[in-house]
Amino acid sequence: MTANLLDLDLEGLAAFCEQLGEKRFRAVQLFRWIHQKGASRFDEMTDLAKSLREKLPSVCHITDLPVLSRQESTDGTIKWLFDVGDGNAVETVFIPEDDRGTLCISSQAGCAVGCRFCSTGHQGFSRNLTTGEILAQLWHAEHFLRKHLKSADRVITNVVMMGMGEPLQNYSALVPALRVMLDDHGYGLSRRRVTVSTSGVVPMIDRLAQDVPVALAVSLHAPNDALRDSLVPLNRKYPIAELLDACLRYLPAAPRDFITFEYCMLEGVNDQPEHAQQLLKLVKTHGGRGVPCKINLIPFNPFPDSGLKCSPRAVVLRFGQILNEGGVVTTVRKTRGDDIDAACGQLAGDVLDRTDAARRLAERRQDAAVQPIRFVHTAKDPQV
Ligand code: SAH
Ligand code: SF4
Repeated sequence: MTANLLDLDLEGLAAFCEQLGEKRFRAVQLFRWIHQKGASRFDEMTDLAKSLREKLPSVCHITDLPVLSRQESTDGTIKWLFDVGDGNAVETVFIPEDDRGTLCISSQAGCAVGCRFCSTGHQGFSRNLTTGEILAQLWHAEHFLRKHLKSADRVITNVVMMGMGEPLQNYSALVPALRVMLDDHGYGLSRRRVTVSTSGVVPMIDRLAQDVPVALAVSLHAPNDALRDSLVPLNRKYPIAELLDACLRYLPAAPRDFITFEYCMLEGVNDQPEHAQQLLKLVKTHGGRGVPCKINLIPFNPFPDSGLKCSPRAVVLRFGQILNEGGVVTTVRKTRGDDIDAACGQLAGDVLDRTDAARRLAERRQDAAVQPIRFVHTAKDPQV
C-alpha cells in the first residue's frame, strides 16, 4: 500500500521525500500544494520537477474521506458525515460567525469514555482515527468551502477538537494533525485558534504542553468528584484535584492565560445554585490561588434514551450569574445547527446501532443526494 500524504506533518513529509532522494524544499512545495491549494493530484503541481511528478503516483497518494452526506442548517452551520469504513462514520461541523469560521473535528469513531450525557459516548468505541482521517476533515471542509464561497482566502479560521471522540486518547495521531494545522506551510492557524477539548486525560495534558501547546478546554461538568464520577467515568481515574493540577501545569505553555472549563447544564443534576457556589470555590481556591479560567455553560442537547433534560433557560442564566458575580467570566454557548443535529453531543455518526450500521451506510450511499449549498459567508480573519 502506498502512503497517504495526508498522514504526514512537514517533518514526516521531509523524511518521506528524503527516502525518495529528494531535497527538503520539495517537501515544502508538496505540503503547500496539498494543504494550501487543496491539490489531490500530482499532475496539478506544476512547479515540481516533471520526473518527480511522474514518480509520486507509484509511491504515494492524497486521499480524502468519502462523504456520506452534507447537511446545511438554516443558521448556516454545515455538517458532513464521513465514511471511515467498516460501518463507521464520523461527523464534522462548520460553524460560521461574523468574524470567524470554526470547524469542529472528530478524533475517534465513537468514544471509550462513555459520558452519560453524550450521544457519542453512548455508542461505544470503534476505533481511533488516523492523522490522515483527522486532517481530511479539515482539508475537505476548507477546500470545499473556498470553492463554494469563491473565496481566495482561508475560510476556516478556528479549529476545535470537539467532535466525536476523546482527542487525548488518540494522542499519537492527534499531534501531527495539530502540527499541520499550525504550520505556516499548512493551514497557518495560530495556537490560540486551535482548541483541544478533553474530558481530562491528565498525563496527556502534560504531554500536550510539551509537544503542541494549543488552547485547552476541559470538560468539567461537575464541582465535586461524586457527581463527576457519575457523569464522566474517567474521573474515577483522574479525579478533579489531579485534573486541576494538570491545568495549572499546562498554563505556562498555553497560548492563552486561562483554561476554558466546559459545563453541560443538566436539569436537576448539576445545575443548582449550590453547584455553582461549589464550582466557584473550587476554581478560585484550588492549589491556593485558584485556576485562571473561563467557564462555558453548554445547554444539554438531548438525544434519544439519554434520560436527561436540559436545564431551563432561567436556571442556566442564574447559574452563570452566580459565577460571573463571583468573578469568573462565564458565557452560555449558543446552540448552532440544531435542525441538523449538529450541536455538541449530538454527533453520533452512524455507529449508533452497529449491527445495522453497514446496511444503513450502504443505503445512504445510494441516495446520498448531497444537498445543494445555499450558504454564503464572507470570512474575515480578525486579529485576536
Ligand atoms: N471528548 C472531548 C471532546 C468532544 S465532546 C470532551 O469531552 O471534551 C465536546 C464537548 O461537548 C464536551 O465539552 C462535551 O462534554 C460536550 N457534550 C457532549 N455531549 C453533549 C450534549 N449532549 N449536550 C451538550 N454538550 C455535550
Ligand atoms: Fe467522549 Fe467527550 Fe462524549 Fe465524554 S463528552 S463520551 S469524552 S466525546
